[in-house]
Amino acid sequence: TVGAVGYGAYEIHRKRHPHEQKPFDPTKRTVVVLGSGWGAVSFLKSINTDDYNVMVVSPRNYFLFTPLLPSCTVGTIELRSIMEPIRFITQHKSRNVRFYESECTDIDPESKTISISDVSDIKGAVTNTTIPYDYLVMAVGADNQTFGFKSQTPEEVDRLLHMVVVGGGPTGVEYAAELHDFLKDDLEVWYPELADKFRITLVEALPNVLPMFSSQLIQYTESTFKQNKIEVLTKTMVKEVADKEIKVMDANKNIVSIPYGLLVWATGNCPRPLTRKLMARIKDKQTSPRGLLVDDYMRVAGAPDMYAIGDCTFSKYAPTAQVATQQGLYLASVFESLARIEEGQNKKITPFEYSHQGSLAYIGSDKAIADLPFLNGNVSVGGVATYVFWRSVYISNMFSFRNRFLVVGDWMKSKVFGRDVSR
Ligand code: FAD
Ligand code: NAD
Repeated sequence: TVGAVGYGAYEIHRKRHPHEQKPFDPTKRTVVVLGSGWGAVSFLKSINTDDYNVMVVSPRNYFLFTPLLPSCTVGTIELRSIMEPIRFITQHKSRNVRFYESECTDIDPESKTISISDVSDIKGAVTNTTIPYDYLVMAVGADNQTFGFKSQTPEEVDRLLHMVVVGGGPTGVEYAAELHDFLKDDLEVWYPELADKFRITLVEALPNVLPMFSSQLIQYTESTFKQNKIEVLTKTMVKEVADKEIKVMDANKNIVSIPYGLLVWATGNCPRPLTRKLMARIKDKQTSPRGLLVDDYMRVAGAPDMYAIGDCTFSKYAPTAQVATQQGLYLASVFESLARIEEGQNKKITPFEYSHQGSLAYIGSDKAIADLPFLNGNVSVGGVATYVFWRSVYISNMFSFRNRFLVVGDWMKSKVFGRDVSR
């Protein structure tokens, strides 16, 4: 039974992720359909592609179930739930329809050709391509979007598909890991022709990533990233960020330019403007630029009857959810004691004591790492079993049953159907 369920899930996945667009038969007439909305999709679902070469041109790579669109505006339904990728419709079972994600800019009924626009280089120059048709089906709706058709120079394709993550702390590492999974599991299946062009680079100023983990787990993470073709540039500090490139100082102190298509900044925390404003007001007691100074009872130095917990503070603990949660629980117990003391009861308020439960991080390809306190020491583990543990810890730490249900549902959904790559 398990095998049958697994095969069923694979079949659903395979059908939703067809591998390639099949070639046209030169002996058949070509029908060009403009649009990917209700009219076009209804036509595409019924046309027999054994009789014609069928091609769709539309700037929108998904069908949108518009009747439920108002429900999305207030969150009753997720927008992605009413979108269907056009590839699933155009290549369903034996249906063979080619799809061009492009906007048709002109139609010449005499020469029976259409023009499609195509942004072709780094400066945004547009080239036009002409496509002949035997039959044209206009289904462009009443309101056009103006997305550009992507067909850039090789250098521009390389830049656009280069994703750079700055900061090798747990945020940057986990993000690079998730991005890798998305590119590997989904985009490579959808766009096999681009598979070897996707690149991820992680830039870290220090000599290694994840300084808060044991050296064994740092090495394990760096070797897993290497296997996953994520380039890790350590001892490399970003000095300047421009529109399409960053300038970094590399390990040899040379300034090098790195072009990027996507840049994700994950270089740590600093105080919010409100916190800075408060610190400036009581600056004689608030002497650290890194956050509010509090005592062991979470009392803000220099501000009577004010307490602070979590990332807005600067203390000997790392700014983590684990610390913030324990401080929140502790402070609630302080307030409980204060109320009882006011009623005349004899209560003693003890200082906050942090109890470290360990550190966990996801590193991609269904592997996680964990540094866990054990007896009086520490255990470092990494791999697929740790990933199962990572998932179960996060699920059990979620605040509501609703969150748990939705997250487990999302994990299952992406396993069976793949991640949603439509806009
Ligand atoms: P937050 O959770 O950031 O909450 C601050 C709240 O204040 C927000 O609701 C915000 O809207 C509100 N706010 C902001 N400005 C104002 C204002 N002017 N007025 C009123 N309200 C305002 N930690 C872990 O322990 N384990 C992990 O696995 C982990 N993973 C992480 C992954 C990522 C990607 C990130 C970014 C962080 C992660 N952390 C993790 C760290 C953790 O999220 C933080 O330490 C934690 O959120 C701190 O809690 P907090 O209540 O202090 O602040
Ligand atoms: P971080 O401060 O831990 O890491 C930021 C990294 O960016 C540092 O290693 C720093 O050297 C690097 N950096 C800074 N400027 C740079 C530059 N110009 N060029 C290159 N590198 C640069 O920040 P974070 O990863 O966002 O984590 C913030 C907090 O949240 C930490 O306390 C962390 O423990 C916690 N967190 C925990 C988890 C987890 O437990 N899984 C996940 C995410 C965050």
